[in-house]
Amino acid sequence: MNPEVDIPYPPRSWLQNNIKSLYIACLMVFVPLWMLGSWYIFTNQAQTNLQQQIKSDLSLFADSLDSELEKYRFVPKMLIMDATLASTLANKNLLHYRNIHDYLIHIRTVTTADEVFLLDINGSTLASTEHANQGIDYAHTPYFQAARTGVSGGFFTLGVNAGIRGYYFSEPIFDTKTDDVLGVIVVKVNMSRLERGWLNKRTPMMMTDEYGVVIASSVPSWLFTSRQRLEESAKQAIRSTSKYPTTSFPELQINLIKQRDNAQIISLPRPDYNRVLEVSLPLPELSWQLYGHGDLKTLDFAIQRNTALSILVFILTVSLAYVVLQRRLQFNETLGRREVNQARLQQAKETLEVRVAKRTQDLQDRNDQLKQAQTELIHSAKLATLGQMATSVTHEINQPLTAIQTSADNAEQWLERENYSRVANNISSIKKLAQKMAAITLHLKTFGRKTDNSTSWVSLDEAVNNAVELVALRCKQEQVELAIDCHHKMQEVQVLADLVRLEQVLINLLTNALDAMLDGSDKKLQINCKIEDNGLEQQLSEGSVTSQKWQHNICLQVIDTGTGIDPEHLVQLFDPFFTTKGTGVGLGLGLSISYSIIEAMGGTLSAANNPQGGAQFCLRLPCKEPARGA
Ligand code: ADP
Repeated sequence: MNPEVDIPYPPRSWLQNNIKSLYIACLMVFVPLWMLGSWYIFTNQAQTNLQQQIKSDLSLFADSLDSELEKYRFVPKMLIMDATLASTLANKNLLHYRNIHDYLIHIRTVTTADEVFLLDINGSTLASTEHANQGIDYAHTPYFQAARTGVSGGFFTLGVNAGIRGYYFSEPIFDTKTDDVLGVIVVKVNMSRLERGWLNKRTPMMMTDEYGVVIASSVPSWLFTSRQRLEESAKQAIRSTSKYPTTSFPELQINLIKQRDNAQIISLPRPDYNRVLEVSLPLPELSWQLYGHGDLKTLDFAIQRNTALSILVFILTVSLAYVVLQRRLQFNETLGRREVNQARLQQAKETLEVRVAKRTQDLQDRNDQLKQAQTELIHSAKLATLGQMATSVTHEINQPLTAIQTSADNAEQWLERENYSRVANNISSIKKLAQKMAAITLHLKTFGRKTDNSTSWVSLDEAVNNAVELVALRCKQEQVELAIDCHHKMQEVQVLADLVRLEQVLINLLTNALDAMLDGSDKKLQINCKIEDNGLEQQLSEGSVTSQKWQHNICLQVIDTGTGIDPEHLVQLFDPFFTTKGTGVGLGLGLSISYSIIEAMGGTLSAANNPQGGAQFCLRLPCKEPARGA
């Protein structure tokens, strides 16, 4: 994986960006559609239910009408079985007619019929339960004419005199011998009796005859109106049968609003019936038609309530679907982003690892370079010190060299005189002087050599002596009083150091002190040392202390009576290239290098001003005392 390439988040899908608008658009478009659809379905359903209910009411009424009529249809059939009527008609016995009159009244009372009467063969009333109707001629009536031909008759009519709607059942009375029709017995039923059941019906009803004239209605004002314009033939038939006293009926104002299957929505001439569902049922036997009505306004509330509920459910469902879908999309998006975040994290980790490795490598390289430079610098500084020392060393060597010259001349002269003991003495002193020179040059050789950084227990006394040796001549020349106070202690002590480098540090400290006292009058250079306890060191092994020893430091002080150090300079004294000496005289590296040398040996180097004047440097190093053992 390329660590620099930024991993993008997965792009948001079209659905994610537009789900809210989609939801609103869906509501705006589908809610009205849903409302229309629901309204249509609920209206249709409610109207179908109402239609069913009206139809069952109509069937119920038709059944009850049929059974009611059937009840009266049997009355004349029963009466003709009575032989008295036939014999009375055959004999035309008036006395018997009176008895028959009483008999008919009895029959009317028992059957609750409206009127029962007996007609002769010419249609004239021989006997009737209504006295007033005696002698009336019914020859033109369809029910007489049917019975006259020997069959049962039935006919609805509106009474001309009483104005009562009645249904007439007629039966022919046969001569028992000849089977000729002798007369007709008629039973009349009042139609209002049949309507009684309608009044408490929830469905307003009407019944029309074969011409469309309303002959029964739960709304009295609709009676004897016609549902359609009467044909001339119909009027003719009405006139000829005297069915109704008139042939002109007011037309019932029915406006068709909508046609349904087996029903229709209409408005009827009543303020509260301006939108009703009308269902019809034919009564084929009577050639009548039954109509039932249901007020559609009563359905409105239920339709509106159901439609509102349905819209509510729709909105809730769509909203729920929206919420679920939105959550799902959000979840997917979060999941996608989390995966990308993880990949980014992984990428960042890898990048970091690469960078850390690179930095570590760089640091390592720099460190190596620094170490190398430091070593070079120390070596250069050492060589610089050597240069400084060259003069005094030359002087130091010149002295024994001159002495060797003199001793050699003397030895030559004593040899000529053959004084061999004196020759031997001179040779011996030459040898000693040569050894001293060898020691000086050997020391210089050692000092100039590059060393590794390893430390070992070395003699502090030796280091101090070697350093002092190198500055001794300068001290003498500059009339500096050099005092080493603790020679005996230094001889006992061994320090953990690199001897050559320790010498280098000491020479640097001594040279600086001499520089500081260059223009002074009372020049004293003092070397002190004291041993400090550094605390009890415990060595641990498997959780328990197995051995203890005291840790010691030696503090070697180099004190001068020079210019001292400006307090402002104390903090930067050990900084590289800090110098107060003129250009070309000081580099400002001596103390900085000395500091790092001592630090590398596990010690410290510090500077302070001497209260009596001048400066004092303290060099601390771990030490061991052979007398107390380590
Ligand atoms: P250099 O000797 O090349 O200047 P050093 O690092 O050895 O560099 O010393 C830095 C400075 O510290 C000197 O320039 C001097 O000002 C100050 N210094 C060092 N030793 C002494 C001393 N004994 N007395 C006063 N000043 C000192």
